Amino acid sequence: STALIEVEGLVKNYPVPRQGLWERQQYVKAVDGVSFQIGEGETFGLVGESGCGKSTTGQMLVRLLERTQGSIRYRGSEITGLDRRAMRSLRRELQIVFQDPYASLNPKKPIGWILEEPLIIHRIGDRRERRKIVTDTLEQVGLDNSYLKRYPHELSGGQRQRVGIASALVLNPKFIVIDEAVSALDVSIQSQILNLLKELQQRHGLTYLFISHDLNVVQYMSDRVGVMYLGKMVEIIDVREAKREPLHPYTQALFSAIPQVTAHDRERILLRRDLPNPVSPPQGCAFHPRCPYATDKCRQTAPELQRHESGNRVSCHLYEGGK
Ligand code: SF4
Ligand code: MG
Repeated sequence: STALIEVEGLVKNYPVPRQGLWERQQYVKAVDGVSFQIGEGETFGLVGESGCGKSTTGQMLVRLLERTQGSIRYRGSEITGLDRRAMRSLRRELQIVFQDPYASLNPKKPIGWILEEPLIIHRIGDRRERRKIVTDTLEQVGLDNSYLKRYPHELSGGQRQRVGIASALVLNPKFIVIDEAVSALDVSIQSQILNLLKELQQRHGLTYLFISHDLNVVQYMSDRVGVMYLGKMVEIIDVREAKREPLHPYTQALFSAIPQVTAHDRERILLRRDLPNPVSPPQGCAFHPRCPYATDKCRQTAPELQRHESGNRVSCHLYEGGK
């Protein structure tokens, strides 16, 4: 498939509040030179511990956040420099679904109004046509007409997330960033929402960036998975190919924790030491303080993401030369 989204050398720095007047301005590199592509109709998963830069990456892709450096191409065209007007038509095509739809849904307005508003903003259809789009979209997310007049607080978490999805869908987008969309829901509701997202993808030929800290969920949803650590992409794996093994020690730790369901087990394997302070990340490979294979080279030189003979892309000195 051809690439719908091409990301190259993407960087996002946040200034850290200064402690004193004479202190040098410091930055957190929330995203530190990330490159990947997403094919049309593909689901690209992003996984990693909280604070690794997943959400920041997703928000830059739909231009809710301005990047510090780097390139984002959509259908072959650079979108990072676009002004408001040019962004307006693109906004229809690039949507986002958040973890907490309650925070993004206007509590004072009924669902029908919430779903119609973006159509009005984008000057789509007359009143009757808009109503038809809204009811069609509601139906597609499994909610009937009776929801038009209901308010967000009257809905369950799962129903609210269906409305969140509908409000992303109503403008007929091509690409949706889905950021921890099921993390706050019960497991049984989670699988309903995940299957709904898959169904809608099929039906509309949607392309997804699927962000979650939960590797089980990411694997279930994704064609390829990118693993982030302290703002960097450390590995990209095609999870459709059953033989693909994780290579990076961090990914291996993540994947080895899968059969164990408790967070406690996962921590035992992963967190030999705490996540380093992102303001002053470790020299060399940022994973070295937690890596059982770290050498002097790892402490001095940062590895690059490169193609491995298995087909994975991996950033680790253990696989220098692609082997
Ligand atoms: Fe571990 Fe070195 Fe590979 Fe980093 S580069 S993951 S420290 S072996
Ligand atoms: Mg996040």
